[in-house]
Amino acid sequence: MILESQVKVDVLSALFAGTFGEFWDCQDDGCDCIYQRIGMWTNPYLAETLEVRMCCIWADLYKQYPQFVRVTPAYKDGNKREWVTEPTEWSGESDMPKSLWYRQLSRQQNRSVEDIRVEYAEKDELRPRGKPKREPMPLFVRVEGEWVAINLR
Ligand SMILES: [Zn+2]
Repeated sequence: MILESQVKVDVLSALFAGTFGEFWDCQDDGCDCIYQRIGMWTNPYLAETLEVRMCCIWADLYKQYPQFVRVTPAYKDGNKREWVTEPTEWSGESDMPKSLWYRQLSRQQNRSVEDIRVEYAEKDELRPRGKPKREPMPLFVRVEGEWVAINLR
């Protein structure tokens, strides 16, 4: 897409001023799509970066072609070979991404992502935290000729 010249000037000014912001990513919560998907292509020989919110475009396509869209209200667990119908509790080592938390709450409460985001933006203390799976490696230090293990937490 060719940008209008004033828009192009504004974007380039923001780039050089460092105020352009971040690239879109699939956990940026920048739209209400359940599965955020971003296409990104960048090329130094063209001095151009193209970002596309594929999820938002697909959402419009789904409306045009509902006969080609199928949503199953369950997750197929490939290991156990069974369908899971309740959202699984967060088990990641890092904190649950806000974007995923909002969408899980949306599913659990049968409300829109937009609604959930408004209600839970100020309730981050409720967001599931990461659970490190490995014990931390002890640090050995030598104290008066003896090696002593110290666990750093
Ligand atoms: Zn989207």
